[in-house]
Formats: sequence, structure tokens, C-alpha cells
Amino acid sequence: MSRLDVFINRMVSQRACLDFAIEQTRGMAGPVFELGLGNGRTFDHMRERMPERDVYVFERKVESNPASTPEPEMTILGDVRETLPQSLERFGPTAHLIHADLGGHNLEKNVQFAREISPLIEPMLAVGGIFVSSDRMFFTSLTELPLPADAIEGRCFIYRRD
Ligand code: SAM
Repeated sequence: MSRLDVFINRMVSQRACLDFAIEQTRGMAGPVFELGLGNGRTFDHMRERMPERDVYVFERKVESNPASTPEPEMTILGDVRETLPQSLERFGPTAHLIHADLGGHNLEKNVQFAREISPLIEPMLAVGGIFVSSDRMFFTSLTELPLPADAIEGRCFIYRRD
């Protein structure tokens, strides 16, 4: 499989999993969190598909396309290892949808990082809330869900707090 194939599979899976999570959490109160703004493509998708919800973006350095840059008051700047615990104090366990796309090209580092941040993300999700990630996570109390039809195994992961 070429890198182009892998990239396309990741993008298709991200969209399918996000659309599934948006549908599943429709009508739930509480904030939505986007972890890792990057270019802002997934943020833009989330903002477009759920204009009625508050989407907060966690990012250490904003370098997104100007067309998909969140408002300063919706941006939580800094390393997620610091801003996630601070946000748990601020919001409590109220997030109903969290999407994480924080990884880079080094797969080993991504696994290590996923181990590190799993316990920081886990307490932020409300009951019935959904977490979508490009990396497999290491949760102890969330249930991994089957992927929606259009998503490709291994390219995206979905978890729910029951
Ligand atoms: N989903 C985005 C999009 O559609 O454009 C791409 C996200 S990009 C792959 C990953 C982003 O996560 C980068 O902008 C990087 O700065 C951010 N990031 C990685 N590690 C982080 C950390 N520890 N704290 C905060 N942001 C981080």
C-alpha cells in the first residue's frame, strides 16, 4: 500500500468516524474538543457539521489555514499534557465528543504518546460521549466501538463512555 493510499484511507476514515460520532451525540449538551488543529481540516468539518455546538481546539502552536482557524476564545493553547488536566478542572466530565489527531510520522512515538494521554482524556468524557482518534488508545473504562461502514480498520478508532 502506497503512502498515498494510507493517507486517503486515513482521511476517509476520519470523516466517516467523525460523522458517526456527530450523529450519535446529536442533542447532547456540553462542549466538543478537537485535539490537534494542524491545518484545520477536521476542525472545519466539525464546525460545519455541528454549528450549534461549542468546539474548543487544543493546539500547542496555531498554524492552520486562515479559513479554518478557531476564534481565540475557543482555542486552548499549549501542550495537551498540561491543558487537558487544566480543562478537566474547568469543564469537568462534560465533553460529549472529543476528536484527537495528534500523531506524527513516528509510529512508536505515537503509541507512547497515546499511552501518556489516554488517562488525561478518559475522565473528560460525559456518559454517552464519544471519542474518535487516529491512534489506538489505552483506556480502562471506555468501550471500543465497531467502525462505521466507510472507515478502514486501523486508520481510526472510536470509544464511548457507557
Ligand atoms: N486533524 C488536523 C487537520 O485536519 O488538519 C491535523 C492535525 S496534525 C496531524 C497534529 C497537530 O497536533 C499538530 O498541529 C501538532 O502541533 C498538534 N500537537 C501534537 N502534539 C501536541 C501536543 N502535545 N500538544 C498540543 N498539540 C499537539
